[in-house]
Amino acid sequence: MTLQSTDATFSTHSPATGAEFARYPISGPTEVATAVAAARSAALWWSARTSRQRTATLLAWNRLIVSRIDEAAALIVAEGGKPESDARLEITLAVDHLAWAAKNAGRYLAPSRRSPGLLMMNMSATVEHAPLGVVGVIGPWNYPIFTPMGSIAYALAAGNAVVFKPSQYTPGIGVWLANTLREIVPEHALLQTITGEAMTGEELCKSTVDKIAFTGSTRTAKKVAATCAESLKPLIAECGGKDAVIIAADANVKDAAENTLWAAMSNAGQTCIAAERVYVHEKVADEFIRLITAQAKSVKAGTSYGAATMPSQIGIIASHIDDALNKGGVALVGGRESVQAPFVSPVILSEVPEDSTAVTEETFGPTLVINKVKSMEEAIAKSNALRYGLGASVWSKRHGSEIASQLHAGMVSVNSVLAFAAVPSVPFGGVGDSGYGRIHGPEGLREFTYARSVIKPRFKSPIQFTTFRRTKKTDNIIAGLIKILFGR
Ligand code: NAD
Repeated sequence: MTLQSTDATFSTHSPATGAEFARYPISGPTEVATAVAAARSAALWWSARTSRQRTATLLAWNRLIVSRIDEAAALIVAEGGKPESDARLEITLAVDHLAWAAKNAGRYLAPSRRSPGLLMMNMSATVEHAPLGVVGVIGPWNYPIFTPMGSIAYALAAGNAVVFKPSQYTPGIGVWLANTLREIVPEHALLQTITGEAMTGEELCKSTVDKIAFTGSTRTAKKVAATCAESLKPLIAECGGKDAVIIAADANVKDAAENTLWAAMSNAGQTCIAAERVYVHEKVADEFIRLITAQAKSVKAGTSYGAATMPSQIGIIASHIDDALNKGGVALVGGRESVQAPFVSPVILSEVPEDSTAVTEETFGPTLVINKVKSMEEAIAKSNALRYGLGASVWSKRHGSEIASQLHAGMVSVNSVLAFAAVPSVPFGGVGDSGYGRIHGPEGLREFTYARSVIKPRFKSPIQFTTFRRTKKTDNIIAGLIKILFGR
């Protein structure tokens, strides 16, 4: 096979003005293969380090990121268009995850002893968590440091090297991340960033990396899964969502309104776990709607949040608003006129039929559907009706956990919003069209390892059955044992 190189480049633009910001190379098969080969040798060195040495390296990297937070925030603002304080909050969450992964990998990936069972009681049984080798991370643009860090930090902490393909909308912060780790470990390519568009991501999936950690849309995840299937490459798929907020009759409605508004509108609604639909009990619905619509008046596109990062999303947002209104929905705040590319002002819709695309599909804009329900059973059934199952939020003083446990979702915040993303010790991920596999927490660390079972004898067993010299007497002892152990 001849590997092809590419001299092509692509440019990034300011979402608000469209002005070109920077140009980056489009990595082709040659560049991807070269990066993976360098990562392979780095992985050999890194996996042979003790867990304490890895912790020290990753914490040094974390300190460097913190000391350069201004630089990183400026890049995120320029490429993605979000307000600077949002960029800083995002970096804060990313370094919190990196620190947690660095400090906890040793503990959660330590070999564990298992009971060998009565039949094999002469053996000792141990499970080790071995690094996979090289992990390919493919990232989206909406949280260009926080989201990939959920894979990068955990993969590195587990002893792997990483090749990262950031979104073509936000490559700069990805390149910056790899460069900063290179300052800490100049002699080994622990983290490399390859830039490019879909084709570069596809090449990474076709390469010899040992696993792909993908974050992006459900549509792309299916293509990624198909490519990975050709080489039986394992995949974590962190995809889109249509998160529901359930508000019970006993909820603190004031807190629910304030937090739900932020969960729906912040980052211009471009959050995989954004609040997109609310099911509010009819007893408190009027008060909830009064509070959230009043507060929405002070939320402004251009100051509270930035422009839509991806120009093509504007058409999808407009089509969902149109569909809701055409099917009988009511605009409580804004409406079709709120879409003024590249900005979209807050839109709150109500009485939207459940078959409208505004309810069934990910909008990824600053829009929110609020529908009244007669009971929590109805709210739960409607929340669970979609193929998506990423996050959810439940507001109830007495029944929060009870409602949460009935939701078909990977993560639930009770009397709070989005909180699970900021707790590094809990896994992050979804079910159904929201994907599979987990990042964050001990589960996220283990995703980047494989389990190796090691069994060895502690003493010679009187019953030898892994030999052709097995006797009739041994067979009788085994038959008797089975009856005693399982037959009663
Ligand atoms: P996207 O699917 O368009 O792109 C994601 C990445 O995949 C990009 O880097 C892109 O270049 C790459 N890519 C595109 N085609 C590819 C292919 N055929 N093979 C390999 N890689 C390919 O998504 P996006 O627009 O960048 O991000 C927004 C989406 O991400 C939303 O749906 C959002 O909900 C989701 N998201 C999910 C999470 C989560 O953790 N579940 C977090 C953030 C964003």
